[in-house]
Amino acid sequence: MAQPKYIFVVGGVMSGIGKGIATSAIGRILKSKGLRVTAIKIDPYINVDAGTMNPTEHGEVFVLEDGYETDQDMGNYERFLDESLPEINYMTTGRVYLSVIERERNLEYKGKNVEVVPDIPLEVLRRITAAQAASKADVTLIEIGGTIGEYQNIIFLEAARMLKQEFPRDVAVVMVSYVPIPHNIGEMKTKPTQYAARTLNSVGLQADIILARATVPIDTKRKEKIAVFCNILPERVISAPDVESIYDVPLNYEKDGLGDILEKVLDLPKRSAELSDWEAFAERSHNGASVIDIAIVGKYFDSGSFVLSDVYISVLEALKGAAYHLNAKPRLTYLNSKDFESGKLPLSTLDAYGGILIPGGFGETGIEGKLKVIRYARENKIPYFGLCYGMQLMVVEYARNVAGLSGAHTTEIDEKTSYPVIAIMESQRKNVAESRYGGTMRLGSYPCVLKEGSIAGKAYGKKEISERHRHRYEVNPRFMPQIQKAGLVFSGTSPDGVLMEIAELPKDVHPFFLGTQFHPEFLARPLSPHPLFVGFMRAAEEKASIHSVSLTEASAAQR
Ligand code: GLN
Repeated sequence: MAQPKYIFVVGGVMSGIGKGIATSAIGRILKSKGLRVTAIKIDPYINVDAGTMNPTEHGEVFVLEDGYETDQDMGNYERFLDESLPEINYMTTGRVYLSVIERERNLEYKGKNVEVVPDIPLEVLRRITAAQAASKADVTLIEIGGTIGEYQNIIFLEAARMLKQEFPRDVAVVMVSYVPIPHNIGEMKTKPTQYAARTLNSVGLQADIILARATVPIDTKRKEKIAVFCNILPERVISAPDVESIYDVPLNYEKDGLGDILEKVLDLPKRSAELSDWEAFAERSHNGASVIDIAIVGKYFDSGSFVLSDVYISVLEALKGAAYHLNAKPRLTYLNSKDFESGKLPLSTLDAYGGILIPGGFGETGIEGKLKVIRYARENKIPYFGLCYGMQLMVVEYARNVAGLSGAHTTEIDEKTSYPVIAIMESQRKNVAESRYGGTMRLGSYPCVLKEGSIAGKAYGKKEISERHRHRYEVNPRFMPQIQKAGLVFSGTSPDGVLMEIAELPKDVHPFFLGTQFHPEFLARPLSPHPLFVGFMRAAEEKASIHSVSLTEASAAQR
């Protein structure tokens, strides 16, 4: 095989400017040229994985097929590359140090001093090359979290420097830098990017390409200025303006010829990019004929005075993808379950939406609010989709209000409930008792057998599926007979029939009332939308049109 190539993506000036999307988009472009591509995310945290990080601080925890709990950028990579990535493609500072320390304890360093330099960057490189070898990638993208100039990520930049020194023609550095337009000046300023480029030089690296992130496209004059002050050719300064849809990003980069430039930088043979399926998808993301209104009822939205939607990013992208598939546009509204609990929001607020989705979650806050919302959706036939906790609470609500198990609950909240309809798995009890929380949930892909003729069975169009999980609690088989007798159908189970994976109400009872113990959002991809999300969106669209028909009838009656 030809010599593998590596592209390090680093951030200049500030974080939060879309390095993850930039990395994903570069991956898509190179893949469309027929290259085999993989992507790695490095997070400069001491946490060994993302599983123990608070979502309001760090955003979504994305679960890989093999169960590894990672950063939301891994989800972006999987969606843009349309591929599943393995554990080796994600690392944190904590993970790297832990490996070195474990190896040292096993005497693998044969008695020599183990030092931060070079042993830590060497471990980083060992992981990068292992990820490359596992996927046999022609090009491996490595996104280094944080911003240039921080202490936290310096060791990863050192790894990049070492690799570039060894293989100068096979390593490229792409700097994603913010170019502000201060209001009072009204002009695009390149100085922060110049400083970032110099800081990068100070760790022995030179940017080969600069992606100029700004609210608008960068003009020729500014490109030339960045070129002179950052020691780079002007055509290697790529315009990266804000765009309406993240799916436009690869197409936008291609306008500036990014793929061809990367081929030149990395000494790759010239190939043309085949982006037509991506173009068609991006096109659909703009041209939706109708609007589908969805309420997402969650609790991890508030971050000071700001609303954080990153916490549910895979759910949002799954909803978008399904809507685009139906040639519609989603309008997603975040409602805080705590507001339904306190009465700040009346339940009738929900009438305005085509569908209601309750995503995954943990702990007690906002739970009674969610239970009220689920009951309202069930009784008023508003399409409802519950993911993980959203499914467990759907079972609790049904048990309490339909099956007559008053006070039923999940033992996550009420250990003494007389009807523990959701209970901790026996294998998990010990983990919790011994405070072993990191990486110990039921994680990753498990098979699930579907009931023929059910909503889920029809949506997937097959008998057996495999979906990703992240939870400690399960539907308690002890109460199954009562709940089923009361009408709730468990349309997906583990192959041995013990674990309940999907719950739903039959179509003649409710247009769409379905919950999954797994997280279908992790497998929803732009080029292959998820069948359950499509089913939910379709039901939401139908409700909206029934709603508007009855409104028209009402106004006609008044006339
Ligand atoms: N808290 C629930 C559990 O641990 C649900 C988890 C989730 O929604 N991801 O089982």
